[in-house]
Amino acid sequence: MPSYWTDRFLAQVTDTPAGCWQWTGYLTPNGYARFRIGGEQQYAHRAAYEALVEPIPDGLVIDHLCRNRGCVNPAHLEPVTQRVNVLRGESHVAARARQTECIHGHPFDEANTYRASNGTRKCRTCRTAARTRARARKKPGVSCAAA
Ligand SMILES: [Zn+2]
Ligand SMILES: [Zn+2]
Repeated sequence: MPSYWTDRFLAQVTDTPAGCWQWTGYLTPNGYARFRIGGEQQYAHRAAYEALVEPIPDGLVIDHLCRNRGCVNPAHLEPVTQRVNVLRGESHVAARARQTECIHGHPFDEANTYRASNGTRKCRTCRTAARTRARARKKPGVSCAAA
């Protein structure tokens, strides 16, 4: 990485538990990292990739494999065509929509499914089980007084 902007760049990066280099500087409204190099605003993740890996071929966009747009870790970045980038974003959504069971194996069918406020599907069986567990925790135990 050319030394004239390295220090400034690294000062705006913080590690996350997921291994991302989270950008703490300016983010665009879309969530992408922006950075000024030589008086010019550039995408920080593109600058990092070009400085640490290789120049990005013409016509390719950088895909965030970690799906964290604010990440500038070159290991999480891959140059792809715009089309692949869009398809990957869609397949992520599509994979969730295709799910036919909750993580505990209960079916996402008409009777067992409700929508959370953010639109995702939730399992009624799991919700009921969670409520039962919560109630059981609150109860101090069976008392003899009622007998
Ligand atoms: Zn990342
Ligand atoms: Zn479930």
